[in-house]
Amino acid sequence: MVELINFPNLTTAKKFLEASRDAVFIIFDEKIEYVNDRAVKLLGFADAYEIIGRWSCEFISHDDKSVQYKPAGKNTPFRYELKLRRRDGTTVDVENQISIIEYGGRPSSLVFSRDITERKLFEAKLDAIHRHAVKMGEIETLEEIAKSTMQILQEDLGFYFVGFGVVEGDGLYFKETSDSNVMKLPLDGTGIPVRAMNSGKTQFVLDTRKDHDFVSSKILGEPENLSEICVPVKVRNTVFGVINIESEKLNAFDENDRKLLEILAGHVASSIAIIQEKEKLRKSLDELSERNRELDEYTYIVSHDLRSPLRSIQAFAEFLSKEASSKLDDMERDYLDRIIKASKRMSELIEDLLLLSRVNRKFLDVEVIDLKEIVKNIETDLEALIAERGARIQCDDLPEIQGHRVWMRQLFTNLINNGLKFNDSLAPEIEVGCEECYDYYLFYVKDNGIGIEEKNFEKIFKLFQRLHTQEEYPGTGAGLTICKKIVEFYGGRIWVESKPGVGTAFYFTIPKNVLKVEASDSALTVDESAQLVEN
Ligand code: ADP
Repeated sequence: MVELINFPNLTTAKKFLEASRDAVFIIFDEKIEYVNDRAVKLLGFADAYEIIGRWSCEFISHDDKSVQYKPAGKNTPFRYELKLRRRDGTTVDVENQISIIEYGGRPSSLVFSRDITERKLFEAKLDAIHRHAVKMGEIETLEEIAKSTMQILQEDLGFYFVGFGVVEGDGLYFKETSDSNVMKLPLDGTGIPVRAMNSGKTQFVLDTRKDHDFVSSKILGEPENLSEICVPVKVRNTVFGVINIESEKLNAFDENDRKLLEILAGHVASSIAIIQEKEKLRKSLDELSERNRELDEYTYIVSHDLRSPLRSIQAFAEFLSKEASSKLDDMERDYLDRIIKASKRMSELIEDLLLLSRVNRKFLDVEVIDLKEIVKNIETDLEALIAERGARIQCDDLPEIQGHRVWMRQLFTNLINNGLKFNDSLAPEIEVGCEECYDYYLFYVKDNGIGIEEKNFEKIFKLFQRLHTQEEYPGTGAGLTICKKIVEFYGGRIWVESKPGVGTAFYFTIPKNVLKVEASDSALTVDESAQLVEN
């Protein structure tokens, strides 16, 4: 809302208005009654009398759709921005501040117009820098960052001689420059960029002729650049490189340029830090999977080599038990039985280790597998056990998925077997089903067995971790570890929900598109794998 000011004396008021740093207009009934000298200059006229008496709307740009005309009045905002039209047809952005005064005995509008061209330009450039920052968030390499930074410097910020330098070894390399020159400045030598590097501070040179550090990048005969501004790009407090700009003009840069370039350098530094973090993460993941692969290889070789001496122990112990049992006393027979039992157990553990180490060995191709058929086959294999336990396996509709038959069979066999094994119910029930989600399938295997306490939900997926003795429920404790490895191999997840005495449900996801699973050097064919699993 505008406020009414009374000027006691017109001459004093005009003196005050002439001294103002803003353009001043007094408007009555939409006609200009008074302008100060600054207003005359702002509108591109020579004399106030060329303006006085004209309609104020003549000086409002027709391009400015936001503000057509705002006479002073009750509902006029106190401050607003608009574009004024100058004598030569060009426009100028101003911010108006308006009041109602008593002028010549009539209520008139007193308008202070401040030229905000520079501010507008600064805001537009800042806006471009922020848009650039968003774009850089998607960039993956340093080269792309350098290119995109060069682009914004030239296209949006309007600089001409620009360069993006990066520290490599003992030098500062300008790989991206406006004139495509690759330039190297030794870090212990001269150069404004070297000074920015070593001090970590923006260098602002308004006359390069007076700066001993200035190094010309011009070819002989070309005019020399007379101003230079260089901003360090600091990543985690270390100068990574510089943004350097030169101009053929003297005093070409101002505080606004410094601010804008420092903001830009900050964004560039954040993007570089993100790329470095991503690269670190990728390297650790690669190393981790390489170490896992080596571990699998090692486990495979060791378990494989342990098999044959163990078989000899088993064979000779059984031979002794058959042929020489009568010559042994009770204690010796007991020792021999223990050797046979222990070697049998060791053989089971070795077989599970072998199986586990094979999961990561990749197959050449995934195939389309009918899971319903797989579960039916498992049911047939377990026929005797199911009949003996009076159990029932209910299988809802299961999809066809992409995967490897041997591993899918292994996965479902382990879970269904457990559902029957850890089940004291008179009529064990296993339910196998699936829910289709957007890009994965969610499978479940539920039972009405003994259940698992929540504190053991993680433990049971660890290798050889069991909750019961061999006498209570036989097993090695490797089954769920194998299941987890299979599911994770396809990029899925496995977890358990359970209540002791009520039952257990295992859930796992398998992505719909597993074609991306890469074949490694040690890839096995489907036949080879099937053979290995049977061996
Ligand atoms: P194993 O069956 O050889 O013991 P697993 O890795 O398959 O090894 O299972 C680990 C442990 O998890 C089992 O010893 C058992 O205590 C628990 N467990 C697995 N499945 C079930 C289930 N369906 N109900 C109750 N407990 C289970």
